[in-house]
Parts: sequence; C-alpha cells; structure tokens
Amino acid sequence: MNSHLWVEERFRDFYGMKYKVEKTLFSGKSEFQTVDVVETKGHGKMLLNDGLVMVTERDEFVYHDMITHVPLFVHPNPKKVLVIGGGDGGTAREVIRHPSVEKCVMVEIDGMVVDACVEHIPQTADMLKDPRIELLIQDGIEYVKNTKEKFDVILVDSTDPIGPAQPLFNEDFYQDIYNCLTDNGIVVSQGESPYFEVTMQTKLVSIKNKLFPNTFVYNFSNLTYPGGLWTFTFASKGLHPLKDFNPQRVKDSGLEFGYYNTDMHEGAFKYIPTFQRKNLEGLIQN
Ligand code: SAM
Repeated sequence: MNSHLWVEERFRDFYGMKYKVEKTLFSGKSEFQTVDVVETKGHGKMLLNDGLVMVTERDEFVYHDMITHVPLFVHPNPKKVLVIGGGDGGTAREVIRHPSVEKCVMVEIDGMVVDACVEHIPQTADMLKDPRIELLIQDGIEYVKNTKEKFDVILVDSTDPIGPAQPLFNEDFYQDIYNCLTDNGIVVSQGESPYFEVTMQTKLVSIKNKLFPNTFVYNFSNLTYPGGLWTFTFASKGLHPLKDFNPQRVKDSGLEFGYYNTDMHEGAFKYIPTFQRKNLEGLIQN
C-alpha cells in the first residue's frame, strides 16, 4: 500500500470500495491474518484485517454505540461484560462508560491487532488501559468453552466468518455462550449484511433462535461496510429489547452518544425492511 494510492476493499468478486490513502502507518502479518493501519484522506485512520475494513476513525462510533448501548440499556444492571474479538478497543471503551459495569473481559485472538491499534488508533484503543478491562489474547472459542465466569452481557465483535472467526458462527460456540450467561443474560453479535450475507445471517439467527427463548435483529447503517446497512443479532434468556427498555434510563445516565439515542434504539428493532423480515420469517420476534 503506497501513500499515493487508494486502498480498495474487495467484497467477493463483484463489489469494491476505495479510499484515498495518505500514509501507511502499520503493515503486518500475524499467524491469523494481515493487519494494516492506514491514514486515509476522508475517513481518518483505518484498520483493515485481511484487506477488509474493520474500523475507521470517522464512523467507528456508529458500530460501537449500537453493539454496546442497546444491550447495556436493556439489561437492568450489567456488572460483568464479555467482549469476544473487538481488538480495536472501541467496544470495550463504550462498555466501561456504564457505571454499573465492574468488569469487562475482552478476549481477542490476535495480539497484533491490539498492538497496532494501541500505537496508531488511540481513539478506539486508548481506554484499554482502564483497570476495569481485563484483556486476554486468546481464542474466544476456547475461552467460552473453559471459563467458569458468568456474564450479564456478551458482545461478539468479530470479523466476518473467515479464518479464526469461522467457528464464531457455529452452534457449539453459542451453546458455550449460553452457558456463560447469567439467568438474565443477553448476547449481541455482529450479524453481517442483510443484502449480501443472507445465508450467514439466517444461519446465525437460526442458531440463536434454537438456543434462546428471545431472538431479534436490529440494524444500523454506516459509511464503510459493504452496502451500508448492517445487522446485529440480539438473543436473551428473557429480557425483551423493547418491553424491558426504559428510555428514561438513557436520559438519566447523562451519557452522550454520536449515533445511539432512544428513538434509534426502538427504531432499529421496529424498522426491519420487508425483504429481511421475509428472509428471517419464523426466526425473529421483531
Ligand atoms: N467491527 C468490526 C467489523 O465487523 O468489521 C470487527 C472489529 S474487531 C477488529 C474483530 C476482531 O475479531 C479481529 O481483531 C479478530 O482478530 C477477532 N477475532 C476473530 N476471530 C476470533 C476468535 N476466534 N477469538 C477472538 N477474537 C477473534
């Protein structure tokens, strides 16, 4: 990647997005993936794993607000939170803004992602030094299989289902997640594109629907994921994302957000496009 060139994210063999690069800040290859951090002209610093855009400074707030604050404002008293993946640090940063959270365990498989972000993208990674965050460089699959800890909320902030993230889209993993959750627990996962990853999204939702009494999807749109519109999947042992959501709690928290707000919380579950509803018919309670 040269500074006078553009970085192109290729999605399958038919679609791509290009960003003007000002400078390459880091380029490495770990045992899991290639890791690049570039300074772009229009989106600030950008992390790419295996050539796929993970976060940019310009729009990371959208994804991190929505993966975190939706479940943390549904759960009445989230004290222990587990993040699987999320090596850029943005999700853990948002988790610890909730004063009820006593501990956030973050399990990222690739130390190179964390190191590159700590050095080059402090906007997302700076809070990783907070004592409430316990960072483990380890496979999330193994962690949930073996841990004896229980969590109120689990956030699966993963890459697409390729390489080390592939088993994060399997039933065994979600059975282990179920076992790690408290009786009132919630799991939210990066749920892929409703346009381009119908098979994968349906598979993920089917797994959650089989294991959990409540399964929902909610959407957001950002600047950098292929197609713009993207999905999180929400599953819980009992809590309902709208009936158990008290908007007053958001107001009382005094927290400020760039994307999340109480209307966005409710609308993200309510306004599911018809084609997506049809694809997920019988699997979601939206
Ligand atoms: N917001 C991003 C997105 O959807 O593009 C995800 C960002 S975060 C950088 C994803 C992280 O998941 C990567 O750093 C990757 O190394 C990590 N990951 C992939 N498989 C994993 C596994 N089995 N256990 C723990 N972390 C994993």
